Amino acid sequence: MQTVRTSTALRSAVAAWRQDQERIAFVPTMGNLHAGHLELVEHAARLADRVVVSIFVNPMQFGQGEDYENYPRTLSEDSTRLAETCVSLLFAPAVEAKYPAGCQYVTRVEVEGLSDILCGAARPGHFVGVATVVAKLFNLVQPDVAVFGEKDYQQLLVIRRMVADLCFPIDIVGVPTVREPDGLAMSSRNSYLTADERERAPLLYRALCEAAERLQGGERDFRAIEAAGEARLRAAGFGPDYFTIRRALDLMPPGTADKELVILAAARLGQARLIDNLPVSLKDKI
Ligand code: AMP
Repeated sequence: MQTVRTSTALRSAVAAWRQDQERIAFVPTMGNLHAGHLELVEHAARLADRVVVSIFVNPMQFGQGEDYENYPRTLSEDSTRLAETCVSLLFAPAVEAKYPAGCQYVTRVEVEGLSDILCGAARPGHFVGVATVVAKLFNLVQPDVAVFGEKDYQQLLVIRRMVADLCFPIDIVGVPTVREPDGLAMSSRNSYLTADERERAPLLYRALCEAAERLQGGERDFRAIEAAGEARLRAAGFGPDYFTIRRALDLMPPGTADKELVILAAARLGQARLIDNLPVSLKDKI
């Protein structure tokens, strides 16, 4: 595995593969890699000849007072783990290289609407930061396919919409959430949990599963299911930002005829803000 720190080195490595007609898959991350990230890498390897991973803690997607400074940075361990996989290239730029002084935040990519609801409402500016950095990375890597986790469901939809609207010739592939044995979605932010919080944390996923069971059982009072989920989280000491049932395609509130839904939740537990979701298909079983 080659590691590059600059856009110039990245471009020249990728250009050589392109010349040889090799197909390139890209997995953007913020590092502190866990089994969820590695699942994306394995998936990417099945889709292309070369896998490029980026590790960049993107300041633009963190709001004031959020955890940008404390976000776990473990580049040397991450690099060792990736070197044991089939990754061809690790791109780990310095912050100054991505946002040279003086031209920070002047050009932005905003996917209107989708960026302003749910996590976008709780974290204003977050998805503009995500879309802008992913657009930059797409222009640098120029992959054929890019792989994202369904764990960040809203982010996946924001990227899909950006790619469609801006005509990036890139397939966007989503990979199901990788979980701990007790159901907690793997996340770099789980390290913020104390031992007691870590024991309570899987309740987030259990609340999503209970809501899914009610939907699968034929219940269509979405408000009642959402209220029960939120109450369950509060009772366990979570501070929910939202617990909501939406259409899987566009995250709009569903009607009773909608069949492809997703239940999404975000909640604070101690220092951590946990997010999770569960897609639910209500298609009639044959
Ligand atoms: P991050 O490093 O948190 O920005 O995540 C990088 C990529 O890994 C994103 O596409 C995430 O959705 C994905 N990801 C993070 N956690 C998981 C997980 N538990 N399962 C699957 N994908 C994940």
